[in-house]
Amino acid sequence: MSVLVYTENTNGSFKKSVYEVVSYAKAIADSLNTSLTAISIGDVEQSALTALGNYGASRVLNVSSDQLKQFVNQAYASVIAAAADQIGADLIVLSNSFSGKGLAPRVAAKVEAGLADGAVELPDVSSDNITVKKAAFSGKAFAITELTSAKKVIALNPNSFELRETGGNTTVETFQPDIPGNDLAAIIQDIVRTTDKVTLPDAEIVVSAGRGLKGPENWGMIEELADVLGAATACSKPVSDAGWRPHSEHVGQTGIAVSPNLYIAIGISGAIQHLAGVSASKTIVVINKDPEAPFFKVADYGIVGDAFDVVPRLTAAIKAYKG
Ligand code: FAD
Repeated sequence: MSVLVYTENTNGSFKKSVYEVVSYAKAIADSLNTSLTAISIGDVEQSALTALGNYGASRVLNVSSDQLKQFVNQAYASVIAAAADQIGADLIVLSNSFSGKGLAPRVAAKVEAGLADGAVELPDVSSDNITVKKAAFSGKAFAITELTSAKKVIALNPNSFELRETGGNTTVETFQPDIPGNDLAAIIQDIVRTTDKVTLPDAEIVVSAGRGLKGPENWGMIEELADVLGAATACSKPVSDAGWRPHSEHVGQTGIAVSPNLYIAIGISGAIQHLAGVSASKTIVVINKDPEAPFFKVADYGIVGDAFDVVPRLTAAIKAYKG
């Protein structure tokens, strides 16, 4: 038995969530007294592949093909399933990222595995049935899932596991499985980025604002604060519904679920539907002029004050601190 981890790349490099999922898979492999193999699909620099050894992958299968330069769900799932078959992996681990959410069930179906997606901590591997704690109901609850099938797939929520450097080495091998023609029926020709800023699901810091901002013309101070922090911007649902901000920034039950290290909520009341998408944040800072705003109940730090007064002063203080 061995463990296979899929290392998703973004424009040829690995993000922090990849090292998290490799660290996580390595910890599971250690508990199972087995080795960890990583699979990378697409054009990734040799040095980045080699660096996976530092997080515990003793072997890297590298799939580099013109047909797979862009992410194609079905084809990537087939390749991962073929790699699992090749090395006899009973457990496949990947990140529950945007693409991971599409891949995990497809991979599980191909290898006939049980799936636990949204894992938030190391599973219990003391019996043949692996037991996984996972987020449920948009992060409002946890579910304990027992995987009873022979093969298993676990998708780890980003920002749920710390990086663990092992100082190990890895060997990088070329892997060229056959890709069924049907898997390449839809090909992504190009990806056009609408922003150069850090994207919400990947952000370690999120600056988010709500209806308390009064109108779209006031978002300059939100963007300025986000810029000095290297943060992504987000908003509540009514803000995107009103067209003040793009829908891609809408966070919550019906929007994106985020789990950054720091979530700064400005002029947002903290309705349950909003909290559903942000409760996995490590630290929550709330700025609201109403001391009774529900958001304060889940805040680690709260500032009762007018956003138009507090935010510019906070930005200036951070700028001064950074020099
Ligand atoms: P408000 O509730 O209007 O709150 C504005 C806040 O700003 C208040 O707390 C006020 O005290 C504060 N404020 C005002 N002026 C200032 C100032 N000058 N300085 C500082 N603070 C100030 N909402 C989401 O966000 N995401 C979702 O995914 C989502 N899904 C939903 C799904 C369903 C089925 C339903 C029914 C609702 C959903 N909602 C969602 C809407 C949700 O219930 C709330 O209505 C919404 O989150 C409120 O947005 P808000 O906090 O920006 O606005």
